[in-house]
Amino acid sequence: MKKVVVLTGAGISAESGLKTFRDSGGLWEKYDINDVATPEAWDRNQELVLEFYNARRKQAIEALPNPGHLALVELEEKYNVTIITQNIDNLHEKAGSSNVIHIHGEIMKAQSSINPEFVYPLDDWKLNIGQKCEAGYQLRPNVVWFGEPVPMMIQASEITTKADILIVIGTSLNVYPAAGLIDVAKAEIPKYLIDPQELNIIGINNLTHIKKKASKGVPQLADILLREYN
Ligand code: NAD
Repeated sequence: MKKVVVLTGAGISAESGLKTFRDSGGLWEKYDINDVATPEAWDRNQELVLEFYNARRKQAIEALPNPGHLALVELEEKYNVTIITQNIDNLHEKAGSSNVIHIHGEIMKAQSSINPEFVYPLDDWKLNIGQKCEAGYQLRPNVVWFGEPVPMMIQASEITTKADILIVIGTSLNVYPAAGLIDVAKAEIPKYLIDPQELNIIGINNLTHIKKKASKGVPQLADILLREYN
């Protein structure tokens, strides 16, 4: 089976009601990311950070996958599909995708604020001050904040290097190191970008830009790839 690697960003979840942040002028749901998504923000105001992610978790629990997420599941009929997502929501899993790597973490998990290896699933939307890890330290969201290392990047790069087809959906390609994944794919493989906006991408070989929203563009591409398969 050919290997399809899909890099997704906030745009694929936009039509499920989860806002991207570039689209609202650098804010994420009206918050400045410096106030809620950095280690410094956590040091300054843990309550505000927890409140922000609690609201994101509540939304994610209520959100449903859209035709963009669902079309990626159909691709698995004929391709070996790995999704590398920058999203912290769980909509790829809800849709039924079997192979999802969350390079920026997962909203439905908490981690120890002292040891990132202590990770715990959450079944409720609320994570409160006073909830502690087994070592007695406050729990924080299991997400990678701006300025923190991205441990999953090595695995994500290795997988992308081996791709036979690369699909990039709904990412402004502004957040590094994730955005650099498009450069590690082999030059000769077909690459597809699905995003309604013009993006500043230069020097990428064999790139087709499908300038549509994910709910239209992904099913259209999946249809072509499933028909092409032999
Ligand atoms: P971004 O906000 O920087 O860019 C969003 C991109 O999606 C833009 O290029 C925009 O044109 C495109 N887009 C908007 N609507 C779309 C649609 N309907 N279909 C397809 N594309 C659409 O997002 P990013 O590059 O993923 O970076 C944001 C970072 O913030 C990520 O690292 C992520 O961790 C975090 N984030 C996550 C979520 C989530 O989990 N749902 C939401 C917002 C931000």
